[in-house]
Amino acid sequence: MALILGPEGYASFLVRGAYYELSKHRPSLIELSYSEFLLDVGRGDKLSLSESKALASPRLENDLPLLASYNLLLESSAKAMGAVDEIKMFGLLDKIASSIKEGYDPISASSIYLAKLISLLGLAPKIDGCADCNKKDEIVAFSLRHGGLLCRNDALKEGVSPNSAKYIQIARYCFMCPLNDVGRVELSKAEAMEFIKHCLVFVSEESGLSLHSARLLAFL
Ligand SMILES: [Zn+2]
Repeated sequence: MALILGPEGYASFLVRGAYYELSKHRPSLIELSYSEFLLDVGRGDKLSLSESKALASPRLENDLPLLASYNLLLESSAKAMGAVDEIKMFGLLDKIASSIKEGYDPISASSIYLAKLISLLGLAPKIDGCADCNKKDEIVAFSLRHGGLLCRNDALKEGVSPNSAKYIQIARYCFMCPLNDVGRVELSKAEAMEFIKHCLVFVSEESGLSLHSARLLAFL
């Protein structure tokens, strides 16, 4: 068992050798759940799971946006492990999953999640000025493939179609929003979906993470 200790007192761990399910293991196998664990220190300081108790797990019911968002969180975090800082990844998952649990719109939460995941993958775009010339005004487009915001001249030069001012504002918000502010601004479904599709294409092209859960999101 490998323990990852987070700055806020939580711990995440990767379990190895759980070849069959025992009742004491069960809470550790429920995705995006919270549980209490009692660990034993054995020979050679190795940790083993002694007892566990499930505290809370997501309720999916018949909510397709919720299901699609949870699938995206699970698939992308599992596939990104090893390529990102695991403690930061866990903090991100915790904040996003908690905001959804507290009633935040899952599609808006997924938009912020994807922006933060792109940053964790080391692919953060430039959002405080044009990615080509650093100009702060006349920003007309946002393109992850072209490095972020683009001014009128550079969008034309790069052959990038202009976006609406609202879309650019959404992209900036998703990348800049501090994790503690997640849940404060709700995006319209159409705006959020356009941003999510843009992020998914970029993630697949740049990092090779091909996300099957994106197909479910595309139906919403
Ligand atoms: Zn420019």
